[in-house]
Amino acid sequence: MTPETSGLPLPDELPPFRRHDPAVPAIPLVLDSPHSGEHYPDDFDHLPPRAEVRRAEDTHVARLYRGAPARGATLIEALFPRAYLDVNRSLADIDPALLSDAWPDALAPSRKTEQGIGLVWRLARGGGPMYGRPLTAAELRRRIDRYYVPYHAALASALDERHRQFGAVWHINCHSMPAVGDANADDPGRERADFVLGDRDGTTCDRAFTAFVAETLAGCGYDVAINDPYKGVELVRRHGRPADGRHSLQIEVNRALYMDEATLAPNAGYAKLEGDLARLIDAVAAFVRARI
Ligand SMILES: [Zn+2]
Repeated sequence: MTPETSGLPLPDELPPFRRHDPAVPAIPLVLDSPHSGEHYPDDFDHLPPRAEVRRAEDTHVARLYRGAPARGATLIEALFPRAYLDVNRSLADIDPALLSDAWPDALAPSRKTEQGIGLVWRLARGGGPMYGRPLTAAELRRRIDRYYVPYHAALASALDERHRQFGAVWHINCHSMPAVGDANADDPGRERADFVLGDRDGTTCDRAFTAFVAETLAGCGYDVAINDPYKGVELVRRHGRPADGRHSLQIEVNRALYMDEATLAPNAGYAKLEGDLARLIDAVAAFVRARI
């Protein structure tokens, strides 16, 4: 089956996320794909063409991990686009220059906001402005209430369920990255590794978990970097508390391994990567079973 790349509109009744529950007895492993949503809400009146805005997506990532529920894992998949609202940012990571009126809560714009890619993106990939008008605080509040809050609640609840059941839980936060650093990145012009693992310098999971995933991927023939240039952002920061048996690891896969970055169409490497990710989940399943 050819994965869709349509950039579908988001009907009001469509939920902000889909939860894929295990098809076999559950293991304490939860994956989430926060950036692969491709259903575009009607009120997302971005200025650049849709094709340019879609370059912000981690297109196909939830589909690449679709073998996980057959291995006992739970997969939470965002359905809305990351350029509309980025759930991998803190709620204070807002650029006041985007808004026509004052934001009532405290602001703490991070370097991501400086780069134009905070909670709501000011810039599209390539550096052009995302909007031709300021947004209202009420519009932003609606995006948070409709998308951010339910997504985070769904992920927290899946992690809590497994932690209650098993006393520990492992979380893989699934992303993809451009093959070469672009204008919004910390490393413009630099070629990336096949995979970049992010544990915020060893703080969001047991280092043995990061090392195990790195070794497994290296065993499949990939080159793997750790915390360079991506360390992980809000989702692993919020959910990773290794001292409490909550292990969160971000995995970034190089888009050139599976798609044409200009058209978003799967390339000849897609099926091999999907198979290798299924092997990774098998290995991680054995890893977590040995620790409960
Ligand atoms: Zn991502």
